[in-house]
Amino acid sequence: MEYDCTVNVLKFGGTSVGNGARIAQVASIIVQTLQENTTPFPVVVVSAMSGVTDQLLRIARHTCLGEHEAASQEQHALRHKHIEAAETLVPESERRAELLRDLDQAFTSLAQAIVELRQAAERNQDVALPTAAVAAWGERLSIRLVAAAVREAGASAEAVREEIIVTSHPQSDPAQPFGIVVGADPLASETRANADRLIKPLVARRVVPIAPGFIGRTITGFATTLGRNGSDYSATVIGAALDCTEVTIYTDVDGVLTADPRLVSNARLLAQLSYAEAARLSWFGAKVLHPRTLIPIAPRNIPVRVRNTFRPHIRGTVVGPVGRSQSGATAITTRRKLALITVESVDMFGAPENASQVFALAAGAGAAPVAICSSSGHHLSFLVEEQAADSVIALLRHDLDNWKVCCRRGLAACACIGSGFTADPMSPARATTALAHERIPVVTQGASEQGITLIVEDRDSERALRCLHRDLIAPVIPLVRHEAPGQKKKRLEA
Ligand code: ASP
Ligand code: MG
Repeated sequence: MEYDCTVNVLKFGGTSVGNGARIAQVASIIVQTLQENTTPFPVVVVSAMSGVTDQLLRIARHTCLGEHEAASQEQHALRHKHIEAAETLVPESERRAELLRDLDQAFTSLAQAIVELRQAAERNQDVALPTAAVAAWGERLSIRLVAAAVREAGASAEAVREEIIVTSHPQSDPAQPFGIVVGADPLASETRANADRLIKPLVARRVVPIAPGFIGRTITGFATTLGRNGSDYSATVIGAALDCTEVTIYTDVDGVLTADPRLVSNARLLAQLSYAEAARLSWFGAKVLHPRTLIPIAPRNIPVRVRNTFRPHIRGTVVGPVGRSQSGATAITTRRKLALITVESVDMFGAPENASQVFALAAGAGAAPVAICSSSGHHLSFLVEEQAADSVIALLRHDLDNWKVCCRRGLAACACIGSGFTADPMSPARATTALAHERIPVVTQGASEQGITLIVEDRDSERALRCLHRDLIAPVIPLVRHEAPGQKKKRLEA
């Protein structure tokens, strides 16, 4: 039989599945999507309930340190949280009992994973993978709740209990403290085979697959994760493996905004954004999309939509191959706590043949440059995170003869991002003028096709962000209150 296997991946984050009532809301979004016959069939990817991965990693740490009482208290709280959500979601006694039995089995398996971690720690073995095996249970629990909720809402759904994502065997790092989870790399063709095997038969039967985000299985057979906050990334890995039409990331904000709304009160929601703009935005500090999220799907031109679980009437932001096709800035963002490192030849005539050596040394100190700002015959400057500056400088001073190394701390990068930004000669001019009017000096700057980056003192960065946003994106119109005629009369009488 030929059946339609076009799908959309819908991914729900930790806050979206944070308690029973929220999971019910997620279920109603899924059922609504099923009813819209214009959208492809949904494949759902979910995070652990908010706070649960932290809790599992605390359990792992306590276990490794022999603090078993503390670990079992956390386990108790974890169980309570899921049972409470299950009871909110499923009122009918038979179905509820079935869900509770299913959760019970999951908790038994989790307890077994904790015992295995404990044994590994006691034998002084590497605990990275046994820790991941514990951390993986957050998503394995939440899929059971979400699948039950969708069934309660009247649609057929099934929790996908096997990991879809296949990863390489992660390298172990004995320097990592206890309770840090591994971030393994997905393998595309193995993952695709798994997605075909685990997801497509469900889609063919019109059963909504509810799959765990964040987790995978190594090619060597161990449970693993894609690293903290990796569930957006896992959704696009799964989406690419299924050749989906779109990946929708449901979160707790309306989409991608023109600036951080906590700092800029009139930040606007962007309807559209290009991959390049989104990548730049996340590099320079915006938190909406995990930087790796676009990697699996951008080469296939699959768009990602970011939208709000709690305000589903808002269509959100689509990040795709093309942006808004407008000149000027699309968004402004700031990345703070940076240091500018300058390497200069002492005789003014040296050539930066050793640029590669400089960057290799910086990388060796664990500090890839955040941005490279300028270079001329005998001079090279770049930004690193402030906390890494000391070790970079020490290494450079030690290894470079005849070169002077200076550092200026306390800086921030204000990125004016837009695909048409530098093509329009007025936009960069408007940006520097905006800062000049506010008497904010520009320490240095960088430019690319995607916009310009102005480096300012960190203490000026919020003011810089506001004035750039005001002059390049959305003027702040002073609020004039018009009194109703009746009100005025009343005030005169008073
Ligand atoms: N639950 C995982 C974490 O908290 C993955 C995610 O939510 O993105 O890191
Ligand atoms: Mg999370």
